[in-house]
Amino acid sequence: PMLASKGDTIVALATPVGTSAIALLRVSGPLAEPIARQLLETVPPTSRTATRADYRDCSGALLDDVLLTLFRAPASYTGEDVLELSCHGNPFIAQKILEDLVARGCRHAAPGEFTQRAFLSGNMDLAQAEAVMDLIHARGERALAAANQQLRGALGRHMQALIDGLLAALARVEAYIDFPEEDLPPEDQDWLSEQIAKLQVSVSKLIQTNHYGNILRAGLRVALLGEPNVGKSSLLNALLGRDRALVSPTPGTTRDYLEEPLLLGGYAFRLIDTAGLNENPEAIEQQGIEKTLSLVDEADLLLLVIDASQPQPPTLPDSVVSALTPDRALLVANKTDLVATRSTTPLQSPSVLSPQLPRIATSALTETGLDALRAALVSHAESFHVEHGAELIAINARHADSLSRAKDGLVRALTQLRSQAPIELIASELRDTLDAFGEIAGRVDNERMLDQLFASFCIGK
Ligand code: GDP
Ligand code: ZN
Repeated sequence: PMLASKGDTIVALATPVGTSAIALLRVSGPLAEPIARQLLETVPPTSRTATRADYRDCSGALLDDVLLTLFRAPASYTGEDVLELSCHGNPFIAQKILEDLVARGCRHAAPGEFTQRAFLSGNMDLAQAEAVMDLIHARGERALAAANQQLRGALGRHMQALIDGLLAALARVEAYIDFPEEDLPPEDQDWLSEQIAKLQVSVSKLIQTNHYGNILRAGLRVALLGEPNVGKSSLLNALLGRDRALVSPTPGTTRDYLEEPLLLGGYAFRLIDTAGLNENPEAIEQQGIEKTLSLVDEADLLLLVIDASQPQPPTLPDSVVSALTPDRALLVANKTDLVATRSTTPLQSPSVLSPQLPRIATSALTETGLDALRAALVSHAESFHVEHGAELIAINARHADSLSRAKDGLVRALTQLRSQAPIELIASELRDTLDAFGEIAGRVDNERMLDQLFASFCIGK
């Protein structure tokens, strides 16, 4: 059963607190219309028409010149009567109006409560509600495209196709439950195995889009690693096009780490400049190096920077060497400008490293090779993109969790089917799978889970 909205009227500032041209407040619930009528002091306003009004508080004091728009239920974001108030973007005015609306009977909205009401009213499914959040936080065209597709119901439609396929299988199984003495005829058995196996393949493909989804939502983490003084900070600055990291001729200047956002090819990257890796660090650097090792674990891509002008290959901790695999790491031979002038020095590369490691020659000083480095970053991000028909689908961690439970259910159902297990067992696995499918787009009747989900939203959304 659908959970009912709480029935009271909520209010929140929908724009950030601060000085701006305009601030927007939103009211949703049964008081929206009476409040609009009070403020206009006349006839009920026409739906979806902006009307100018003097905003007088309950005591009659004039606060601001506002624009009111009433969206009558059900044609509103939340599906309830919604009143939008635009006032001047002065946080003091917005606060006074907010307090006055509370005095008129509204309650401060909890984070995500408007969207929660939109979901509860059936205006959007759960995946669409999440997409609202993705849209608000999207940094980069790719994340934006994925959020927009999800908001337009791409994932919900995809899930519906899976649900339909599963229901067809379940119907075939249920037809035999009432006849326990009968075995499934071989042709039904074959059809079912094939159907369940097909669903399993689709689910696995969908699960694979989670990594791409994480990259779109959180940004792709790129850690710059290497010995002190090889030019990590200089490369970071060159990629950013501005001086952000401290560059110093003294080794070991970057003691902790520094993270900077970078937008390239429609992708949001998080460039992380780490403390230098060194076999025999001074005591003071030890902490930074431990941090570096944990950053190595968390990064999506590792850039091992070496000084191409040094005849000595670097010494690296074993834990770092084992993380430097061709699918996750790139060797950046920096300071090639010095190699050119001392043309005898060969390009050094640590012999412990995989020869398959892609490599790029750069000079942070002359900016040689930086375009190639940028292209490598973008193509790494692109390599996580799992083709999914025409639509860009990139699921989140919650979806992945439900889908992996669904997949387990399908695997068990298939095993049972092949081992001639009782038909009730197979039906029960398929029903569990159906529940897991249902969690993605909605039909969730777990109130606490919903509260948790919407609590991660921002206030006013
Ligand atoms: P980090 O310790 O790895 O972060 O290295 P830095 O970026 O602090 O650079 C150390 C020194 O090398 C500084 O004096 C930089 O100016 C210099 N450096 C960095 N990259 C290059 C380069 O490509 N060519 C030359 N010639 N010097 C560089
Ligand atoms: Zn540095």
